[in-house]
Amino acid sequence: MKIICIGRNYAEHAKELGNNVPTEPVFFCKPDSAILPRSNPLFIPEWTSDLHYEVELIIKIDRLGKNIEEQFANRYYSSIGLGIDFTARDIQEEQKKKGLPWEKAKAFDGSAVVGKDFIDLNEFSDRTNIRFSLKKNGEIVQDGSSADMIFNFDKVIAHVSQYMTLKIGDLIFTGTPSGVGPVKIGDTLEGFLGEKKMFRVNIK
Ligand code: ZN
Repeated sequence: MKIICIGRNYAEHAKELGNNVPTEPVFFCKPDSAILPRSNPLFIPEWTSDLHYEVELIIKIDRLGKNIEEQFANRYYSSIGLGIDFTARDIQEEQKKKGLPWEKAKAFDGSAVVGKDFIDLNEFSDRTNIRFSLKKNGEIVQDGSSADMIFNFDKVIAHVSQYMTLKIGDLIFTGTPSGVGPVKIGDTLEGFLGEKKMFRVNIK
């Protein structure tokens, strides 16, 4: 399986990092080795001094597809989860300046937190307004809604599938709202989809 991540999909977050709001989805990949094993802590890699959390809604692909039309994209996923796209912001800034790929900053071991449960989309009264949040040490640091995505789930699938075949089990991280920030040793991160707790990660 592969993990596809959408960048700059919330206008407020694009602005907080000084980026323009994109006119088409920006995406990059993480390998399956990036997934943080459940209940493991995340050890801050020694090569970064600015590791950031980015809480994101995750769609799970449950049907094989290529060149999927936006109007049919909703047939390719039926559940949603929550995770973190950990980013070594200092490394990413260096790579961006040099015009180099972001993998060093975003695809390292443990950089993808995937909450255990995926929730059937039929359980949401309005899938265009799915609320989610992240608490750091008990305080809310990010609070978002799918309503604020620049490119909704269907648009993301239509775009990415022009370039990559989507396979059953692939995950798409759909971008982070504003409020990203650094972690340090001893921090605890907890993610919530609505009121439901989806994961807890300890930073070591
Ligand atoms: Zn992200």
